[in-house]
Amino acid sequence: MPGATIPTSRSVESFINEKEQAIVSSKTVKCAETTIPLTKRTNLDEFPINKEVVIFSDFDGTIFMQDTGHVLFDNHGCGPTRREELDEQIKNGIRSFREVSEEMWGSLDVTLEDGFVAMEKALEIDSGFNEFHEYCLKNNVPFNVISAGLEPILRRVLDHWLGERQSKNIDIIANGAKFSNNGKAWAVEWRHDNELGHDKAASIQEYRQAASSEMDGSVPLVVFIGDGVSDLAAAREADILFARKGLRLEEYCIENNIPFVPYDSFLDIKRDLQRIIKENENREIREEEEKKEAKALKEERKPEPTVTATPVNSNFWDVTPKDKNVSTEVRSYSVCA
Ligand SMILES: [Mg+2]
Repeated sequence: MPGATIPTSRSVESFINEKEQAIVSSKTVKCAETTIPLTKRTNLDEFPINKEVVIFSDFDGTIFMQDTGHVLFDNHGCGPTRREELDEQIKNGIRSFREVSEEMWGSLDVTLEDGFVAMEKALEIDSGFNEFHEYCLKNNVPFNVISAGLEPILRRVLDHWLGERQSKNIDIIANGAKFSNNGKAWAVEWRHDNELGHDKAASIQEYRQAASSEMDGSVPLVVFIGDGVSDLAAAREADILFARKGLRLEEYCIENNIPFVPYDSFLDIKRDLQRIIKENENREIREEEEKKEAKALKEERKPEPTVTATPVNSNFWDVTPKDKNVSTEVRSYSVCA
């Protein structure tokens, strides 16, 4: 059944990238040199971290450098010219993101497997992602994809690039998809009933609520990684935010005074994650040592048990001088010693 679907976040982001990236980049560099106080950038050395960590990452333009939706639209759908016109309509507010997205996805006439051939040629994974994700697995850090795209596409791409065994460790929070009988017509199953289709901020809030009820109010530290327009709302929900350098999310953070950590590749994020985890370990060790010291101190301060027998030292001479059979001379010597 023909359908409507959603463009990935890059549908909007690409417009900005193509039309405004030069402006954004120059503005960012200038700001980094002169205008942006460093305090607006999260200083991980000073960040109060005492929790487990959970990671949410955007997909298009973040884990992969290109946009999965664009590859499909350009090769098997409305084509690049129409896609740019639609992006323009979103930017000008003529039509909503969801409405335009439905036209883009509805223009496809290809099965997922045939469409994947084009994606296999066009997509490029972030050069540091594999190493980063292996580090997450090794250190039991949950890593989740949170995307405005379609789950079947994202899973197919991750299975191919990471292998199914590694891919299955990643939960994908995205819109669903329905296909016609011949598999060539696409329709979106929206995650949220609003103009965004998938409100990433709402998804993170949902996670916090679920985690809070499962963990007696304790919620892990939420790390968010993104690059563009679809990440703007989610940026405010993160405890620690990573924004790809030179793109819309970084600019938005600067404009709105939202603390963030800029990155070029996932290897940058891995290094910071190592610091966070190390700091957590050190904190746990310190807390354990402090507990032990406090316990030892408490035991030292415990009052002596009450002695019911006559104290020997204080009353010795008065009570038992004769019994002790000690001469007065010796007693005087002992007292003065
Ligand atoms: Mg993106």
